[in-house]
Amino acid sequence: MKSALALDLLDGPLLVIAPHPDDETLGCGGVIAGAVRRGAVVHTIFITDGGASHLNSIQWSRQSLAAQREREAAEALARLGAGAQPRTFLRLEDANMPGRDSAAYRQAVDAVLAIVKHLAPRLVLMPWRRDPHRDHRDSWQLTMDAIAASGQRPEILEYAIWLDEFGRSDDRPGEGEMEQVAFDVTAVLDAKRDAIKAHRSQLGELVHDDPSGFVLAQPTIERLTGPAEVFWRQCGQ
Ligand SMILES: [Zn+2]
Repeated sequence: MKSALALDLLDGPLLVIAPHPDDETLGCGGVIAGAVRRGAVVHTIFITDGGASHLNSIQWSRQSLAAQREREAAEALARLGAGAQPRTFLRLEDANMPGRDSAAYRQAVDAVLAIVKHLAPRLVLMPWRRDPHRDHRDSWQLTMDAIAASGQRPEILEYAIWLDEFGRSDDRPGEGEMEQVAFDVTAVLDAKRDAIKAHRSQLGELVHDDPSGFVLAQPTIERLTGPAEVFWRQCGQ
């Protein structure tokens, strides 16, 4: 069963969790744009530095690529109308987030926890818990640990980026586990498409010396820029 996202949730505050710069726009750029238009505070946390998308490039070191991706993230937020909205770059290592029993992990949880406490989000948008991309699953866990420690009970919606393309059947929600919540993004779809274009390094436009590097494929972009953004909400949440 699919229900419509309750519009009062868009009055915020909202917390957006992006494992990599570009997930904020692909996963929930429409909700970000819609919420900002309603005057909400939208705080985006970029979990990893995104520096692992073109590891073989000589021209773009991991460090310079990570810096570029922060610039692209800022530009994407601006194009969504969220240029003046708060954002945090946690700068964990892309494709190698710290394990749950490490000090680095606890430090990252504390950083997210501090933001949750300060923001008191009404709605949290985060990656799907069993997304095939490891960083997306790890970002879900990290955020859930921070929310649990906060004692707060925000509405939580999960967006799937890679599930439909690379997911196994048991990555999908089980019977009675989740329900779908949809948000009509047609009013802000142009801004969302424009924001995706800000992520130039992921579109094959910037790094030309790493043929094995990541390129966001057009069918993926099409799949994630439909007239609605659809989220998973845990049943009985
Ligand atoms: Zn990602």
